[in-house]
Amino acid sequence: MMDLRELYQDVILDHSKHPRNFGHPEHANREARGNNPLCGDRVTVYLTVEGAEIKDAQFEAKGCAISVASASMMTELIKDRPIAEVRALFERFHQAVAGKEPPDAATLEALNGLAALTGVREFPTRVKCATLAWHAMTAALDGAAKDVKTE
Ligand code: ZN
Repeated sequence: MMDLRELYQDVILDHSKHPRNFGHPEHANREARGNNPLCGDRVTVYLTVEGAEIKDAQFEAKGCAISVASASMMTELIKDRPIAEVRALFERFHQAVAGKEPPDAATLEALNGLAALTGVREFPTRVKCATLAWHAMTAALDGAAKDVKTE
């Protein structure tokens, strides 16, 4: 039987070493920066929003493996998805990494690859690394012009 932690570790390393959707597309019409001073992570998320859908999502980042992997996985998950669905997914992910109760099997399944990041719930300072890109993405959707910080 494959050890789940090892599998999760592999997913995080893969995404941090080979981030997907890394770059600054010219067609992006929303963007926001995130900054996690505790760890030194910085991320900028670029979205192309059309109506109620996110058509494209890319990012640039400098930071720890968890912050980069989370941003990479996020861009894969939110492309071509309705904004309402993306916000609900973040809500679920945030609960899974920072909520009082650990995520149940159904939640882990719904989170797909993001389940690999739920191990950070045992390390409160790393929760900010895992959610940084998501906060920036939400700020970009909300049209916030200012830099965002994770809470
Ligand atoms: Zn970090």
